Amino acid sequence: MTQLLDGKALSIEIKNEIANTVRRLTDAGHRPPHLAAVLVGNDGASMTYVANKEKSSHEVGFVSSVYRLAENTTEQELLATINFLNNDPEIDGFIVQLPLPKHINEQNVINTIAPQKDIDGFTPLNIGNMVLGRPCFTPATPLGISTLLHRNGIATEGKHCVIVGRSNIVGTPLANLMSRNRETANCTVTLCHSRTANLASLTRQADILVVAIGQPEFIGPEMVKEGAVLVDVGIHRLPDASRKSGYRIVGDVRHSEVDPLCSWVTPVPGGVGPLTIVSLLQNTLQAYRQHHNL
Ligand code: NDP
Repeated sequence: MTQLLDGKALSIEIKNEIANTVRRLTDAGHRPPHLAAVLVGNDGASMTYVANKEKSSHEVGFVSSVYRLAENTTEQELLATINFLNNDPEIDGFIVQLPLPKHINEQNVINTIAPQKDIDGFTPLNIGNMVLGRPCFTPATPLGISTLLHRNGIATEGKHCVIVGRSNIVGTPLANLMSRNRETANCTVTLCHSRTANLASLTRQADILVVAIGQPEFIGPEMVKEGAVLVDVGIHRLPDASRKSGYRIVGDVRHSEVDPLCSWVTPVPGGVGPLTIVSLLQNTLQAYRQHHNL
């Protein structure tokens, strides 16, 4: 029978754990952790993501602030905001919500974030430390996927983990994380992308299949091995006149056809998304502890 990798339920559990930790810290006289977000422009999805991060921060007792900048903000103005956040001792960690308007160079922005406040784990120093297995902030979505597997008791050691999608924020760091020499990883990893030949022959070998390609309902049952653990990172809003809302949310996988084949699956929504936010909270707490030597 197919079991659900219920990200929503697990996120509530972990948020309760974080809230208890924050309560203990504030009871002991420390200030609460502070997570800040920078949002440039009015992209609807980005505004929703930032609002969710703000809401989750409040739920666990963090201080949260959002720096909203206009669409026509210059790169220099954005870099000045980042430098301000880098130097504000009251802020433990911050994210710059991506994507940025086209006139701003994303890499310049990421390179300006102080690594000790880079709770998204996107700066070159953090990525380098992650690859070397040194202390770092692990990027939020890969960390969330790893947590989702581990906390549901899914063994990874010796398993073949096939990841489809090699972006810098999901596939590439996840490939590193899952192949680490540690009990919660130790997978043999295959990383696929748009130039991969015979994709289905590789995905069919997966004990753990992670799909992060940004193509609605791309993966069908002919690409999945019976009994596989399936993690669908994709999230899309498709127009649907039959729904009251006018749309439906789908992932990168055709769930109605694929799920019955699998041992475990992430729902969309309510799978990877909630754990991505929780990972950001965990990284903020880690930054806070480092700043306060706690
Ligand atoms: P990107 O667009 O940055 O990367 C997509 C990757 O998929 C690329 O490596 C690309 O290959 C590969 N790809 C695209 N089409 C195919 C194909 N037909 N066959 C094989 N590989 C393909 O995407 P992201 O990693 O940023 O996001 C992926 C999805 O996950 C999106 O739907 C996004 O919204 C979602 N997402 C969800 C999160 C969550 O918390 N739930 C967090 C982050 C993302 P190539 O490199 O060759 O171009």
